[in-house]
Amino acid sequence: MKNAFPILIAEDNPVSRKLMEKTLRQAGYEVVSAENGREAFTVFKERFFPIILTDWGMPEMDGLELCRAVRETPAEGYVFIFLITARDSKKDIIVGLEAGADDYLTKPFDRFELIARLKTALRVLALEKSLKDAYEKIKLLSITDKLTGCYNRAYLDEYLTKEITRAKRYSRPVSLVMADIDHFKRVNDTYGHQAGDLILKDFAATIRKGLRKDVDWVARYGGEEFLMVLPETTFESAMSSTERLRRFVSESVSSHNGTAIRITASFGVVGFVPSPHNLKTTHKAIIDCADKALYQAKNDGRNRVRGKRLQVE
Ligand code: GH3
Ligand code: MG
Ligand code: MG
Ligand code: MG
Repeated sequence: MKNAFPILIAEDNPVSRKLMEKTLRQAGYEVVSAENGREAFTVFKERFFPIILTDWGMPEMDGLELCRAVRETPAEGYVFIFLITARDSKKDIIVGLEAGADDYLTKPFDRFELIARLKTALRVLALEKSLKDAYEKIKLLSITDKLTGCYNRAYLDEYLTKEITRAKRYSRPVSLVMADIDHFKRVNDTYGHQAGDLILKDFAATIRKGLRKDVDWVARYGGEEFLMVLPETTFESAMSSTERLRRFVSESVSSHNGTAIRITASFGVVGFVPSPHNLKTTHKAIIDCADKALYQAKNDGRNRVRGKRLQVE
C-alpha cells in the first residue's frame, strides 16, 4: 500500500540517491528525486511535498539553502525536513536545525533508522492534519446557521461587504433578495414550534435549490428572514428568478407528522449597479433597500415579489 505522504529527495550523489529511493520505495513511499537543492526547490514549487530528505553539500543550492527556501515558501501544510549529512558535530547539527531542518541523519544512513525516523515525521504530520481538519470544521460551524445550514449573520456581514466592494471595483451588477415567510407565527401557533423549524429548513432548502451553484449564496438574516446574494445579476434577471422561486415556494408542501403544511413567502429585490455616483453606497444601505421592497410586498398582500433598482446614471 502506498504511503499517503510523498517524499522529495535532494541528493547530488547518484549512488546515495538511488539507495535512498530504493529504501523508501520498498517501505511503500512515493518518491521524487532531484539532483540538487535548486532542482528540488523547483519541483517543490510545482507540487507540495510534506516530507523532504535533503543532503547538505550539493552544487547550485545546498541543503541549508533548500531548508531556508522551503520555510520561506507558503505551502498547503507543514513540511518535515530531514537533513542528511556526513557532518555530525554538535555545531553542524545546530546550524542545520536553525536553517529549518526538523531532524537529521548522518551518512552513511542506516535503513532501519531512516524508516523509524520517518515514522516520527508521519506522527507529526498526522497530528498537523487532524488539527487542520478540526480547524476547518470549526470554521465551517462558525459561519453556518445550525438549523438551516445556510450561512449565518456573521458570515453575511463579512462577505457581503466583500461582494459589494468587488462589484464596485469591476463595475458589475449585484442583486440582493430579502425573503420572509408569510404569517410564520401562525405556523408555530397552529402546528407547533417543531413544525415551524421543519418549515424553516424546507424553505431554506428550496431557496438554495433555486440558486446558481457556487455563485449565489444565502444567509439566514433573522428568524424567518433570509438574504440571497446574487453576484453578476441584473435587476431584471433577479426579479424573474425570484418570481420563479416565489411560485416554487407556494407550490411546495412540507409534511410534519403526516400533516401537510403549505406556506408562502414575500420577497424584496434590489438590483445594485455601481457607477461613479453611488460608490459610497454601503452594503447596509443596499440591504435597507431590499427590506423596503419586502415591506412593500407584505403591504401589497404577501406572496409576491417587489423590487427596486439602485442605480444612478
Ligand atoms: P409576516 O407575514 O408579516 O412576516 O408575519 P410573520 O408571522 O411571519 O412575522 P412575525 O415577525 O410576526 O413572526 C415571525 C415568527 O418567526 C415569530 C418567531 O417565533 C418565529 N421564529 C423565529 N425564529 C424561529 C425559529 O428558529 N424556529 C421557529 N419555529 N420559529 C421561529
Ligand atoms: Mg552531496
Ligand atoms: Mg414573516
Ligand atoms: Mg420577519
